[in-house]
Amino acid sequence: MENRTGKIIAQLAEPDDSGAMPELIKMINRNVAPPSELKAEDVLVRAMYVASDRVNSFGGKFPIDELEQLAVKLIDSPVMVGHRKDSLPIGRNFHAVLTQKDSVPWVKAYFYWLKDSENSEQLRQNIDGGVYKECSIGFTFHLAECSICGQDIRSCRHEPLVRYRSDSDNSAVCCFLYRKIDKVLETSLVYRGAVPDTSLTNELSSARPAAVGSISCNYSASNDADPLVRPGELNPEEPLILLPFYEGRFAEVAVQSSQLQLRSGGVAIRLPRELATVSTQVPDFRWTPSLLVGYRGKERTSLAQLDRFLAGESSGVSHLEIMTIPFDKSTGVSQPVRSGQLCFRTIRCVSGTSETLGEKAESIASRDGVLIVGLSDQKVWRWKPEFQARRKAVGKYLLKRERASGRCLLQIRSAGKSLSYILFSFSSERCQTGVAFVAEPAAAAEIQSDGWMEASGDAIRSFRSVGDSLVIDCEGALEGDLVFRPLLIGGRKKFLVRLARNQSREAREIYEQA
Ligand SMILES: [Zn+2]
Repeated sequence: MENRTGKIIAQLAEPDDSGAMPELIKMINRNVAPPSELKAEDVLVRAMYVASDRVNSFGGKFPIDELEQLAVKLIDSPVMVGHRKDSLPIGRNFHAVLTQKDSVPWVKAYFYWLKDSENSEQLRQNIDGGVYKECSIGFTFHLAECSICGQDIRSCRHEPLVRYRSDSDNSAVCCFLYRKIDKVLETSLVYRGAVPDTSLTNELSSARPAAVGSISCNYSASNDADPLVRPGELNPEEPLILLPFYEGRFAEVAVQSSQLQLRSGGVAIRLPRELATVSTQVPDFRWTPSLLVGYRGKERTSLAQLDRFLAGESSGVSHLEIMTIPFDKSTGVSQPVRSGQLCFRTIRCVSGTSETLGEKAESIASRDGVLIVGLSDQKVWRWKPEFQARRKAVGKYLLKRERASGRCLLQIRSAGKSLSYILFSFSSERCQTGVAFVAEPAAAAEIQSDGWMEASGDAIRSFRSVGDSLVIDCEGALEGDLVFRPLLIGGRKKFLVRLARNQSREAREIYEQA
């Protein structure tokens, strides 16, 4: 009798959505590429909500942009039971999406195993019957970024899960952010996971993000979007969609028979041949509004660099993300796919109204805020929610250039003190691409020289030291972390100066949000 009950429960828990299976089987064959092609009758598929942006029991959490990386890196990783490395995997992850469960962002990983394998039915019963109820992920990463000071938590004075007071008299519990995720080793079915609320599911639908309406798309920069001062300025009747803000360009994108096409306002944008032909791995899709964002390694590049890249000129861009905005099943890509220097993926987005903007923005904002698209008037706004508002400046910098030479004078002022450095062979353009420059302290006579032309200057948000380097968080022309690393050249003390963009800002924003 007991046996029978067990079976009935298991049957009731079979996937209700067999409609998703053909597409899932295609993904298995494409992403895992087993030696012999699999069919729907060969496999069982389930999914796990394996990582969220909540703090886990070790005091660690994934910031949302690392969750996106995680979803990409999960593909083709093994599924184990209880992280046991002494036994073979019981299944394999073949697809992952960033989705939401109870308004929390989650990575949902789809995995399969073979129906005919040993203990296959037992595994299915344990999952569907709720015995294997939670899951967890094994991965390697290079940086555990302290949520309070932005340094590596292994070397700063803060302890995870301890509450600290901040300058503004609020207090926040310290956690660390998993940064520079290297690879996903495995995911495991466990009795209790470190991340709260992980779960296994046989709901296989929504393998794609939800459809949203339609927007027109001109080849304009995302940062040309009108800044929105307060959400109250939006028409409350207007249905909206929200995207994370990235500096990039909007264009309509289509792929047909491995030919990439771009257009703006109905007019084709000519691409260099090496970009126009893409791998056969990229599926065909029809015209889809998309955001194009350039990267150099893990750092986003400027619009000027992006434009040069698209024109086939030397740009410093190592790859281009083509983020399609999901409409329905025939637009955009269903999962990330790479082709040479191009990476196609669906951008995360949520729908909302002006009333729900705050909570929706919080779930989706990048470190630079959100883009809000009005579906009926097709207007685009940029918004930086309050929790991301900028801190008070702690100082100022001024960058002056010498006539007819590449030398620059960088002056840093804070709390009545002033420091001046000469930067050699400096170009702000190359600086933006992460090129390092040699600097040395400026002599008084040099500072007073009238050969310097006023160039640019802006606020400094913070100073901090990381190892023996000084890190100056700048706004404006030198937006990002300006890193001064001491070095000796010919017995003289100099510095290697490099602009690292946006590395620590998010940590602070999350802290301010806490
Ligand atoms: Zn710290």
